[in-house]
Amino acid sequence: MTSDNVNGRQVVKIVNGHATSDGAGVHLTRLLGTSELSYLDPFLLLDEIRSDDPNDYIAGFPDHPHRGFETVTYMLAGRMRHADNKGNSGLLGPGSVQWMTAGRGIVHSELPEQENGLMWGFQLWVNLPASKKLTEPRYQDISAQEIPEVVPEPGVRARVVAGEFGGATGPVQGISTDPIFLDLMLEAAKSVLIPLPTKYNAFVYVYEGSIQLGLKPPRAKRNQLAVLGPGSHIDLSGGSTGARIILVAGRPCNEPVARYGPFVMNTEEEIRQAFADYQAGCF
Ligand code: MN
Repeated sequence: MTSDNVNGRQVVKIVNGHATSDGAGVHLTRLLGTSELSYLDPFLLLDEIRSDDPNDYIAGFPDHPHRGFETVTYMLAGRMRHADNKGNSGLLGPGSVQWMTAGRGIVHSELPEQENGLMWGFQLWVNLPASKKLTEPRYQDISAQEIPEVVPEPGVRARVVAGEFGGATGPVQGISTDPIFLDLMLEAAKSVLIPLPTKYNAFVYVYEGSIQLGLKPPRAKRNQLAVLGPGSHIDLSGGSTGARIILVAGRPCNEPVARYGPFVMNTEEEIRQAFADYQAGCF
């Protein structure tokens, strides 16, 4: 073991996905934002939608508000139409990402634009620090072709959505918590070291296969989220059939969290104000 490996991150918790539904009856798996793992500062929620049965997804997420945080939609398969009350609209296709800063408030819908076939993707909620909770809403809609893919080691590929890795810089820019968002594919027994800022919280979600994290067990497998402990990097090694994962890290806000449904603020009073502003049509 080299001295550098002493500082490698190890897994501190493995979370299994919970089947649930949200929106107008969309079946999904919730990894973060549950009683098992309510918050990994600054990450508030992670959902995976994966189904080829339209009954599981077709109703989508009709008009609903957000205030005080960011929603990230990363698609693997299928198409989702986004539209908001300010007249913005966009179509998210396979391999694309939308990083939406809700800020002071938006009302939007997220609806599948397909009537059959596989719908597979993720939604991540990222907190905003108090100073940015009431910022103007902002969208970064990024097509699949705009996301760089690098090969840091033989048998390892990484799509760099946000942050820097392998000589590439992700197209998502100017986010308060300075996130790293990588979509990684590792062939069986292939390894890679990913540098991570020591102060950042980080997790890995395995969406295919299995992976070894750190220098010793545990492994994590499909439908499991691994919370990483402190350190300067993570060592990853693909399991017997390889692995596909997302790796996400960000600077924690270290602030109180008051959370109610689609509103995430610092105090209960701010939550009451969010309801009042929403009901008054001020979003
Ligand atoms: Mn939404």
